[in-house]
Amino acid sequence: MTAPTLILPERSHAIASDLRAVLGVDKVKDDYSTLTAYAVDASIYRIAPRAVVLVESEGDIAATVRYAVQRGIPLTPRAAGTNLTGSAIGSGIILDVSRLNRVLELNREESWARVQPGIVLAELNKHLGRHGFMFGPDPSSGDMCKFGGMLANNSSGPHTLRYGAVKDNVEALRVCLQSGEWLNAKAYGLDDPNCADLLKAHKPLRDLQLLLQENATLIAQKRPTVSKNSCGYNLFGLADGLARGRFDLPKLFVGSEGTLGLFSEATIRLVEKPRATLTALIHFHHLEDVGDAVPKLLELSPSALEVMDANTLNLIGRAKHGIPADAAATLLVELDADGAGTDLCAQADRMTEICRRYRLTSDPVIAFDPEQREQLWKARKALYPTLYRFDPKKKPINFVDDVVVPAERIGELIRYLEEFFAGQRVPVAIFGHIGNGNAHIIPLLDVNDQDDFQKMVQGYHEIHQTVLGRFGGSICGEHGDGRVRTEYVKTMFGQELYDLFVRVKQSFDPSGVLNPGIKISDRPFTDNIDYVRLSKPCATCAKCNAVCPVYDVFQSEDMSSRGWFEIVTDKNYSYLNSKRVVEACLNCKSCRTACPAGVDVSQLILDRRAEHPNKMAGVIFRFHAQTAKFERFLKLLARYQPIWDRPLVRRLLDYLTKPFIRGLAETARLSAQLVMPRLARRHLRDRYPELITQAGQTARSPVAYFHGCAANYFDDGVGDAVISVLRKHGVEPDLPTQRCSGTPIETYGHRALAKEGARVNLVSMAGYDKVVTGCASCTLMLKDYPTLFAGEPEQAAAQALAKRVTHISEFVAQSPVKPAMASQQPTKCKVAYHSSCHLRAAGVTKEPRAILQGLPGVEYVEMPDADRCAGGAGTYLVKDFETSQRIVERKRRAIEQSGAEVVATSCPACMIQLRTGLQGAAEVKHVAQLIQEAYEAGDRQTRQT
Ligand SMILES: Cc1cc2nc3c(=O)[nH]c(=O)nc-3n(C[C@H](O)[C@H](O)[C@H](O)COP(=O)(O)OP(=O)(O)OC[C@H]3O[C@@H](n4cnc5c(N)ncnc54)[C@H](O)[C@@H]3O)c2cc1C
Ligand code: SF4
Ligand code: SF4
Repeated sequence: MTAPTLILPERSHAIASDLRAVLGVDKVKDDYSTLTAYAVDASIYRIAPRAVVLVESEGDIAATVRYAVQRGIPLTPRAAGTNLTGSAIGSGIILDVSRLNRVLELNREESWARVQPGIVLAELNKHLGRHGFMFGPDPSSGDMCKFGGMLANNSSGPHTLRYGAVKDNVEALRVCLQSGEWLNAKAYGLDDPNCADLLKAHKPLRDLQLLLQENATLIAQKRPTVSKNSCGYNLFGLADGLARGRFDLPKLFVGSEGTLGLFSEATIRLVEKPRATLTALIHFHHLEDVGDAVPKLLELSPSALEVMDANTLNLIGRAKHGIPADAAATLLVELDADGAGTDLCAQADRMTEICRRYRLTSDPVIAFDPEQREQLWKARKALYPTLYRFDPKKKPINFVDDVVVPAERIGELIRYLEEFFAGQRVPVAIFGHIGNGNAHIIPLLDVNDQDDFQKMVQGYHEIHQTVLGRFGGSICGEHGDGRVRTEYVKTMFGQELYDLFVRVKQSFDPSGVLNPGIKISDRPFTDNIDYVRLSKPCATCAKCNAVCPVYDVFQSEDMSSRGWFEIVTDKNYSYLNSKRVVEACLNCKSCRTACPAGVDVSQLILDRRAEHPNKMAGVIFRFHAQTAKFERFLKLLARYQPIWDRPLVRRLLDYLTKPFIRGLAETARLSAQLVMPRLARRHLRDRYPELITQAGQTARSPVAYFHGCAANYFDDGVGDAVISVLRKHGVEPDLPTQRCSGTPIETYGHRALAKEGARVNLVSMAGYDKVVTGCASCTLMLKDYPTLFAGEPEQAAAQALAKRVTHISEFVAQSPVKPAMASQQPTKCKVAYHSSCHLRAAGVTKEPRAILQGLPGVEYVEMPDADRCAGGAGTYLVKDFETSQRIVERKRRAIEQSGAEVVATSCPACMIQLRTGLQGAAEVKHVAQLIQEAYEAGDRQTRQT
């Protein structure tokens, strides 16, 4: 079936203005940035929409559907946009369900939950985990994909082996039909009066029942014989239901890819979280052995059984992941202990015994510890975007990425594929859910090269034909048909069954507005390929969105890290058409830490801001650079702080400073709610004259303390704590001349000014073995100087400095000196750690936690979301106080949940932000302050004994 020609209004803004009139202005967007961000998902395609609707209720969904149907405008539902097939992009209206992201109900006795379609799988599992449950199917994109997409794609993942796919775990759905009416889709008994009522009310359901009854034989004949299938409509599941006297409606809608109706909620079955889990990596010398080992390993009832072939191991880097050079394939096996009776150690022994029969390159690596297990999974889960690092031109292209064959023939399939691609001279990664016979095949191609393009088309047809003909398999196990496989749905099932699919589609969507071009279409898979983007470094996987604090708050692609990559690298980008979004980034760098493809969106945004430096910030930072004058001004402010920092005066200041501060950003203000740090009347450098070295003076100590601005100017004890801790470790640090490390300056686009200060720092820090820092942002900025001076004469000096920068927690962890601490503490204080984004980006994550855990007076608790941004980000809490407070709300809840009395961190902006957000609910301290307290308690105990 070719999609009907749909009418698009001539004036493209008419759609958005019509929808605004119905839904309100905040829920509808059609500006350049929004349409650019929503033109992509994680597939190889690009289609720009006309308008985006961010629905917040069932009423919004129904109203949008009715409008689209009346006007004949294509309507594409969308959740996280991580599908690999182009099913969440479209030329009309995108209906984004991300803001519908709550768990509506959890029934612990009966193990089910009601959830909305915008909830991220990882967030759902975090919530369920607190009650001992989880959702079984686990797509590898679980950190970012959302329930609506999982339902519509019938997603599955490594643990499908045990828990099935989404279709096996759904009880009921609320579906908005194209009439705008709502259907409670569940498995009704055919004798249930409600079923009769439904059939009476909805003609498409009557059509469907008749179609199933009349074609039962054909459907039975065409049923895929492999263990997984997401191709076509699931008439097979419906036919099974009818045979058991049930009209199992979720079976129709799960996997329908937004082409039959839109979901507003789902009732899902839950499974208990395993009591313990074992993960093993097994490296095989010979591929043939893998095929043989799989049935034997399946006897252990693993919850997951995954494979990565030799090419995949080469592409992701064997050395980096500790994979032997001679491994022909690696298996990842997971075993769960559910009942108290399961002995995982005995299971591990049985597995090792099985593996001994084969030619392994080394003993299996077995991990029980959650952190180690996560490491083993990490490479596997991020495989697809990681392949983007391999070559600047040849990119992983998903066009035959999801085939399924009988599990026992997976070795044969891998051998065939390796030979096929070797014949084409195309590098390819083959990995996937071997226990289900589901292989992900990702060739690396430059689709802008004619030769590679032809190889793609040839591979598409040959491989799909072979999987269907020789292996009797399926072309789609879990990713959906989307735009990429529609061309082959007919080949997979034959004309007769395909005609039934067309009848189902026409019956539920007679106007053809629901996600046209998806699943049922004759369009070739090469239509709408995004050739420009496929030459860029971003995989559009959305892993960064999952950690972007701005996306977390706005749930809109134009306010997200992935969206910003699209916008700032688009050929039509200009600062003026995108200022709103370019200025919204916090520069927290969480995206950079998360990105498997090595893209640094925050840096791209800084580059764009550097083209338009903020004038007001320039005035402030130039004053800041005149150190003597600036410090005199600060001391004056410190003196009168008891007056100006009173609530009433602060409200007045908020009002009076607005016109001036607005120069920083439209949203900027000095909110009276902001808990100001106490300014020091005597700066750190005044308090430690004996440690000061002047410009040009040679180093007196092997260690310099780069205190940065906050520790110098704030009277919060952080600088004193760092110096005291260093002294306890036998180091008398120098405090060389220093300027602002440059983070806030660069954030406002003043790169030249940031470099000016950085040059001073490069010279004054040159003679030291170690440059110790306390501030997270200074740590990262000093380590990032090589990027700041890329290709410039200072780059070598910047690289040398970057290697010597050591955060105080790293210094303490590495120090051979172990100062005395109190042996016992009568009471312990509950301490949680907030891992500042810039310190994470600098790679310092373990040391602060390990140190806190070792402090005698501390009961360390790992709080939820410890690694998420708190929203302070330098001066962001001045630039956009409202958004920063929406961001910190999540952190506040996490701290409350942890029961912590003290939150430890390393960043002055985080400290201000946490104090503002917590309003005294917990104390906020720098890690160095807690170490100092522990050493002082040790001193007191020594004096007493
Ligand atoms: C790195 C990576 C790894 C992946 N690993 C896996 C894996 O292991 N297993 C797997 O199955 N998939 C995997 N995927 C593919 C993808 O993540 C999943 O299919 C995921 O479930 C899609 O969810 P989403 O929220 O991103 O949906 P989207 O991409 O937004 O949408 C997917 C489909 O759902 C429809 N849809 C969304 N919301 C609704 C709604 N409310 N009502 C009706 N239709 C709706 C859309 O129209 C579209 O057709 C992976 C993707 C990436 C990038
Ligand atoms: S920037 Fe990185 S994490 Fe973000 S979408 Fe692109 S590849 Fe994925
Ligand atoms: S730096 Fe932070 S706010 Fe900016 S795009 Fe990255 S994650 Fe989002």
